[in-house]
Amino acid sequence: MIAKIKKNDTVKVIAGNDAGKTGKVIGINREKGTATVDGINIQKKHRKARSAQETSRIEDMLGPVDLSNLMVVCPTCGKAVRVGITVVKDENGKDKKVRVCKKCNAVIDKTAEAKAAKKAVKKTAKAAEEAAEPAKKAPRKTAAKKAEGAATEVKKAPRKTAAKKADAE
Ligand SMILES: [Zn+2]
Repeated sequence: MIAKIKKNDTVKVIAGNDAGKTGKVIGINREKGTATVDGINIQKKHRKARSAQETSRIEDMLGPVDLSNLMVVCPTCGKAVRVGITVVKDENGKDKKVRVCKKCNAVIDKTAEAKAAKKAVKKTAKAAEEAAEPAKKAPRKTAAKKAEGAATEVKKAPRKTAAKKADAE
């Protein structure tokens, strides 16, 4: 099983006191099924001075957030989405499971190709994104079949220009 929420994901809180807020996953406790998310479930801890050098103070601590109260924010469409799983080939040609956005079908996990492309085109984040597009296309097919097909059409138009640009370079 591949985890649906991982460290460094941007997630949206869908229930509880922090519902509606987004933050970055700092850590995950798989046994407890909770995550620590930057800025979410802040708890005040009172620390009493134990010596003359110390002063009593209140510290902000991040409390655990139930994983079921979190949704991954898709880096491509920017929405809080449900996540599907698809299989792609890694740099060694081995099958690798990656997460896919069920709304726009973009691969959420960075593939090896995407990483390499990002390294090559380090100038701007936008340029790197464009370069990563061809790598994202292949695994999308199986995912697209599984997910609602309607969403696939929407994303296609802007990709053409990106591809053209990449070709020209
Ligand atoms: Zn998406």
